[in-house]
Amino acid sequence: MTADIDLFLKAKEERVANVQKALKTHPTILVLHTNIPSVHKHGALPNILLSIFDKLLKTLLHTPAQRYLSADGDYYMYGLNQEAIAVKKTCIFLEENHPIGRFIDLDVHQKNARFTRKDMNKPERTCFLCEQPASVCRREQTHDPKTLYAYIKEKTQAFLIESLAQESMLALRKELFTYPCFGLVSHRSSGMHKDMNISHFLSAFPVLKEAFKQYLTMALEPDFNLRDLRKAGKMNEQALLKATDGINTHKGAHFIFGLCLPYYLQNIWANKSLHHFLIDIKTAAAKIARDDFSKKIKATTDGLIAYHKYQIKGVRGELESGLNSIFDWYPHKTLSASQKLCKILARSEDTTLIKAYHPTTLRAIQDCMKALEASEFKYEKKVQRCLKTMISPGGAADLLALTFFFESTDHLLK
Ligand SMILES: [Zn+2]
Repeated sequence: MTADIDLFLKAKEERVANVQKALKTHPTILVLHTNIPSVHKHGALPNILLSIFDKLLKTLLHTPAQRYLSADGDYYMYGLNQEAIAVKKTCIFLEENHPIGRFIDLDVHQKNARFTRKDMNKPERTCFLCEQPASVCRREQTHDPKTLYAYIKEKTQAFLIESLAQESMLALRKELFTYPCFGLVSHRSSGMHKDMNISHFLSAFPVLKEAFKQYLTMALEPDFNLRDLRKAGKMNEQALLKATDGINTHKGAHFIFGLCLPYYLQNIWANKSLHHFLIDIKTAAAKIARDDFSKKIKATTDGLIAYHKYQIKGVRGELESGLNSIFDWYPHKTLSASQKLCKILARSEDTTLIKAYHPTTLRAIQDCMKALEASEFKYEKKVQRCLKTMISPGGAADLLALTFFFESTDHLLK
């Protein structure tokens, strides 16, 4: 125990020294670290907390951070040119208003002193379990570290479930507002669809969000399994159709997000990588393909008909490949949303197009997209003309939404 205390004290001294060193080049230094019991300062939970707030702080402060490894818990340090008072104001807002802001500490340092809540005439932070001043509970060790950890874990998981569902909805919305987008439904037009418009899509959103939250919650339960997930999916599919008056707006997106979200959250929670998430998806999709493509199941959907008629695996094959249509080029910061759609279409076997046309048309469209890509989308007019072709690649659109989702959340994976 004494050795541990010595280690923690030494780590704290090192942090102070690092701050002093950084203050030589910047007038204000911000340190992000976790506010969780010492025995739990390492592992997936503190890493998740640090990733969430580092991303948030980067967008607020426009400054890259340096991560430091420490026996007292890893931390991030930001060198800033803003005044300490302005930075501290933002930090207090985050600590007090972010749903899990109570589990982090944001210390602001300026020359010679730490800029504290007291300097802002703010009362001391309270303990999240009993609302006493936090320093009192810490000093008197009022709470068992296990109780504190369980509370932080529960709240962080609830936050992740809510925010991953929310990010999914934002991604689907962004796809819906992507234009030009061939003959897909968008905010600009109904494209080649005569029976639906953007209102049908928006009507499905509340049902989709609840469904996604259900799958994410299932993912963290010890008895999570694919069979129960698909059972829940079938029920929600009915609710979705009801919300859109029988029009199919999101069957594909619901399937693809519904399968990805639970494995994505499991990998975040286990502190694993995007690569590892894709391995899980491949395994789950292979099982689904095996079950669905078996002769025992009657082909009633576009995907199954395409398989039995042309051996094209569609979205199941896409998932089984580890989302190759996305990860063959992901991430790509300079492409527009429409260009990303072209890249996906060049690679995916979109069974919605096979239903409307024939596999040869799908191949011709893929070749056209590959040619555009090879020219690096240089011929703007040609790209625009192509994007206005009246085809409705619904499967590629679902993958585009999934791309937006990965772009906004992949910092949570290792
Ligand atoms: Zn307390």
